[in-house]
Amino acid sequence: MRHIEHFIVGGTGSGAGGRMGDVFDPNSGAVQAHVPLGGKVELDVAVAAAKAAQPAWAATNPQRRARVMFEFKRLVEANIDELARLLSSEHGKVLADARGDVQRGLDVIEFACGIPHAMKGEYTEGAGPGIDVYSMRTALGIGAGITPFNFPAMIPMWMFGVAVAVGNAFILKPSERDPSVPVRLAEMFREAGGPEGILQVVHGDKEMVDAILDHPDIAAVSFVGSSDIAHYVYSRGVAAGKRVQAMGGAKNHGIVMPDADLDQVVNDLAGAAFGSAGERCMALPVVVPVGEDTAERLRAKLIPAINALRIGVSTDNDAHYGPVVTAAHKAKIEEWIGKAEAEGGEIVVDGRGFSLQGHENGFFVGPTLIDHVTTEMESYHNEIFGPVLQIVRAKDFEEAVLLPSKHQYGNGVAIFTRNGHAAREFAARVEVGMVGINVPIPVPVAYHSFGGWKRSAFGDHNQHGMDGVRFWTKVKTVTQRWPDGGGDGSNAFVIPTMG
Ligand code: NAD
Repeated sequence: MRHIEHFIVGGTGSGAGGRMGDVFDPNSGAVQAHVPLGGKVELDVAVAAAKAAQPAWAATNPQRRARVMFEFKRLVEANIDELARLLSSEHGKVLADARGDVQRGLDVIEFACGIPHAMKGEYTEGAGPGIDVYSMRTALGIGAGITPFNFPAMIPMWMFGVAVAVGNAFILKPSERDPSVPVRLAEMFREAGGPEGILQVVHGDKEMVDAILDHPDIAAVSFVGSSDIAHYVYSRGVAAGKRVQAMGGAKNHGIVMPDADLDQVVNDLAGAAFGSAGERCMALPVVVPVGEDTAERLRAKLIPAINALRIGVSTDNDAHYGPVVTAAHKAKIEEWIGKAEAEGGEIVVDGRGFSLQGHENGFFVGPTLIDHVTTEMESYHNEIFGPVLQIVRAKDFEEAVLLPSKHQYGNGVAIFTRNGHAAREFAARVEVGMVGINVPIPVPVAYHSFGGWKRSAFGDHNQHGMDGVRFWTKVKTVTQRWPDGGGDGSNAFVIPTMG
């Protein structure tokens, strides 16, 4: 049995409390590794090492820090297949998606390679007589990241890519369900020349999260996960005087206007609703056809497309998607399908009870399509996070704008149309943080910033891009006056000359 260790300086012990968690192989349902579930004891060790290392790292000139990021990027790229295999074996996403997970994280590392430019401050000459004002960005000290299971490479890199490049030390608490890739990334950062103590990984669950939130030497916490926990992390972290950004859950809508190219929409939905078994915070689990005619035409095209999806083990290169992460998550998804049915939804394609031949104990869920879902249903308001697509029929454009706008989550939304005016109007009015126009998964590129609205994000700054730089730095503003010294020689400022 594989044993995963903390990646902390001065000890990789198995957890002082001795608690251990199981890491499954979702393809077979078997436990493939154990991970220590640590707490304050391990965190204190990591924080002490971070504290010792951070001042020198922050004082290293930004170009040299950027060179470490360049080398880290090279190493991750050189090992992308190994990382993707490891990631896929613990998460269950197919290899192409696993490679994408690493690649999207690398995009942020590329952004971080430009940190000397991104950290430049501002300058005003002559703000008053003989007065200049300048501001500089400085690191916070020690930052921490708490990440979800669904992107075990990308989301840690969203956070530490920027956090360490600006000069912080960073302690990562990855999901205990797929913790191996984060450890490999920290090892590669060391190999790339990152100083000891600048990037460490501690494993655990709520106990470790609470230790992070309460630790007086941790200045900032970035969290990504489900909304109730995001809100908890935000409140407790802020109460402890920390800077906190906490991204939560989602229920993204795809609006289909009557003039949309339906073949393209169905193709996009196959990927956006079912890819990665729907375990993406930017998945599109709700489709909103506008008008009954659009709804009927869309439904007729969706059914055969969904029935044609191939579910396989995560190493099957022909599989559209693999198993979900745990047996408990599979049960939860199937429960939501049952709930939707009980609430009056029509189960058009039913993925419950799906079993893959030869992998009967794997955590597979078949693709599911539910029609006639309404805003009264609990299954509409909650995140299912599985391969389940709900159809909510809207009578017109106005109703279609209101649906995502009034939903408790506001992460992403998409509109499919050939009408530029409708698209523009929609983008301007919809109450959601990330909008796609004929783009089903509008994840912003790394040099823009990622973040939703409402219960999809708590705190002020988004992830990566310039918002990431703002989150992981504090600004110091200097107002300076250099008088010329006057004429009596008592306070003379002499311009130094040679010789
Ligand atoms: P989760 O909330 O269960 O776990 C996230 C992190 O919180 C993990 O590190 C976990 O160990 C920790 N945690 C779990 N229970 C805790 C508790 N009671 N107290 C303190 N910490 C606790 O989320 P998950 O199931 O790993 O990930 C899926 C969720 O993440 C979905 O809701 C998804 O929408 C969301 N997500 C959001 C974004 C975004 O950017 N908005 C991105 C990816 C995933």
